Amino acid sequence: MQDFIQEKEIFLALQRNQNLSKEKIRAIINKSKKLKGLSFWEVAALLNCHDKKLIRLMFKTANEVKEEIYGRRLVLFAPLYLSNKCSNNCSYCGFRIQNKGLKRKQLATQEIKKEVEALVKEGHKRVLLVAGEHKDSGIAYIDKAVKAVYSIKIGGGQIRRVNVNVAPLSVKNFKRLKKTGIGTYQLFQETYHHATYKAVHPSGRKSDYLWRLFAMDRAQQAGIDDVGLGVLFGLYDYRFEVLALMQHSKHLEGRFGVGPHTISIPRIEPALNAPLANKPPHPLSEEDFKKVVAIIRMAVPYTGIILSTRERASLRDQLFGVGVSQISAGSKTFPGGYATKKNSFQEAEQFQVGDSRTIAETIRDASKAGFYPSFCTACYRVGRTGKDFMDLAKPGEIKKFCLPNCILTYKEYLLDYGTKELKTLGEGVISEELGKITDKKIRLATIKKLGELKKGKRDLYF
Ligand code: SAM
Ligand code: SF4
Repeated sequence: MQDFIQEKEIFLALQRNQNLSKEKIRAIINKSKKLKGLSFWEVAALLNCHDKKLIRLMFKTANEVKEEIYGRRLVLFAPLYLSNKCSNNCSYCGFRIQNKGLKRKQLATQEIKKEVEALVKEGHKRVLLVAGEHKDSGIAYIDKAVKAVYSIKIGGGQIRRVNVNVAPLSVKNFKRLKKTGIGTYQLFQETYHHATYKAVHPSGRKSDYLWRLFAMDRAQQAGIDDVGLGVLFGLYDYRFEVLALMQHSKHLEGRFGVGPHTISIPRIEPALNAPLANKPPHPLSEEDFKKVVAIIRMAVPYTGIILSTRERASLRDQLFGVGVSQISAGSKTFPGGYATKKNSFQEAEQFQVGDSRTIAETIRDASKAGFYPSFCTACYRVGRTGKDFMDLAKPGEIKKFCLPNCILTYKEYLLDYGTKELKTLGEGVISEELGKITDKKIRLATIKKLGELKKGKRDLYF
């Protein structure tokens, strides 16, 4: 277990790649259009760029790159908080053990099912299971939880993909997790900067940097080939963190032949009795945040970028246009939030949500802005995961599937959950997007499937 986060290399790259000429920066941005990604020093140079005009060019190019690979679709999901019990003491999180003001709650199987029913009735098809690290929420509990989620069916509605964000497991337990039929395993390193990591994780299992850093290796060894990385922005210099993400991606690609399936980009939000959450040591401004998203999109073009409801609505709407490809919507960050329909519950939640729009409102606003919701879960169900997925994504081939699957799942949503306003808006989008399917055979097959959906069939995909 050789630590692959090379701090010296990161600082050196940041130091050496300052003040590049506008021509050089422009050339790097243009290079990203080839969809081959960017080198370590090129990413450093872009991170060091503060020229407003060039940053605007980064936004525009990142959007083009995303469109080239995935089209204008945004995949939607909701986090499902299973438990806020935690034995760690992360100084930014409301669930930390030393927060004595938090009402602890772990959902029982029946309560998980109630949450899922509420989500399915809203039209959700994907959830992300989230839990604190605690002896009561080990693999046996997570195993039961995944099964409970998949067991709920209401009419044609059901959760079709369960992703998981829980504490790192051993290879043996990751194998058990894989067997439950999860999609992506996500875990954020929070900060890759060793000294900061140590300071903000003073006790508990999570204080072991390397145990966390190698979690994705263990997941891959266990056969989970879709893994999601992330950084909690605000803990340390964002430029360092983005370069460390590049080192992590490179390590995975080198060892397993496949980089991260997704990268999450949470920023620290206020949380109850969490000293760092209310005053992050390295706050990331909105403008720099947008730049970070654009650079990640250009640097690892085939990777899904996940944006949560931590951010306020209007900022989210802007970020959709600089490379984000997956979003949560209508989220609650405490166990039991969906069934109780409470908007917020400070004494039990992990952090405050910035975008409190319902899923229907989020879809309406995104559609008006020209982004199309997708509830697609096709890839992992037909085995297009890990390297197989990347082999299609890298040359831009995945769009062939993404666009028709986006159309079909949007149509299904409109039929089952759409308001009158959204139906009018959505039907317009669908007929316009149908015209963009260049392969005639696939276009005709999509039209046929749309007819079957109208007649009551569900869950159709390519
Ligand atoms: N407990 C597990 C862990 O720490 O990896 C998994 C779930 S944890 C609830 C999910 C993520 O929430 C953490 O990885 C962290 O990045 C994020 N988080 C914690 N406190 C936060 C805060 N105040 N604002 C925004 N995100 C936060
Ligand atoms: Fe626990 Fe995760 Fe929160 Fe840390 S971030 S206190 S491990 S729930």
